[in-house]
Amino acid sequence: MQVRSYLDDTYAEQVDTRVIAVGEREGRAWAAVEHCLFHPQGGGQPADHGWLDDVEVVPVRDASSGLVVVEPVGDERGWPGFADGQPVRARIDLETRLAHAALHTAGHLVEAAGRAQGWELAANNHFPGQARIEFTAPRPDPRLTEPEGREEVLTELRKAVAAAVAEDLPVTAAVDGQGLRVVSLGALHSAPCGGTHVHGLGDLRDVELSLKVKRGHIRVSYSAAHGPRR
Ligand SMILES: [Zn+2]
Repeated sequence: MQVRSYLDDTYAEQVDTRVIAVGEREGRAWAAVEHCLFHPQGGGQPADHGWLDDVEVVPVRDASSGLVVVEPVGDERGWPGFADGQPVRARIDLETRLAHAALHTAGHLVEAAGRAQGWELAANNHFPGQARIEFTAPRPDPRLTEPEGREEVLTELRKAVAAAVAEDLPVTAAVDGQGLRVVSLGALHSAPCGGTHVHGLGDLRDVELSLKVKRGHIRVSYSAAHGPRR
């Protein structure tokens, strides 16, 4: 039984655990650990990277076992051939984790600001350098058809985002009656999510937004960083 420890504590950097399965996937060796600190790519968020003892690894979801497994980065020359049951230390690159968590959490906030405009979520991407939330507007908004109006809407989005960051809304996760993990930004917004998040919106720094509208498709691109650890 694997524990998805990355869901419990975004800020946990290392854990002493043990190997619970080993195998091969597309010709590459992998190992799975009991307390999995590694967030695999998914839900628009990139994968962590980290180490199993001293071996640099990336996590992937293994469809056949249902486990999050780790594979060596690059070639397999450094792979020691982990054994089932072997004690290991799992460690993530915390700086990368926090950068991803900040960007991903800011994505929820941008989604909240867009929904407050009456828009509906169409797509999201939380990768560094290309982070964006895409919306559709069920009711045509005449402001979106000309530059001054778009600037006005963008100002509203920026204000909503800045207010929630200034309020330092808590970011919490809870499992609902259907077993779905739901992530909330205070009382502002909730969404099902299996990603990693910052403690509170006050952890976010340098949240920047831009807006593009094309054929009724609204794209809010954004960037964000993690502030000093609290
Ligand atoms: Zn999330």
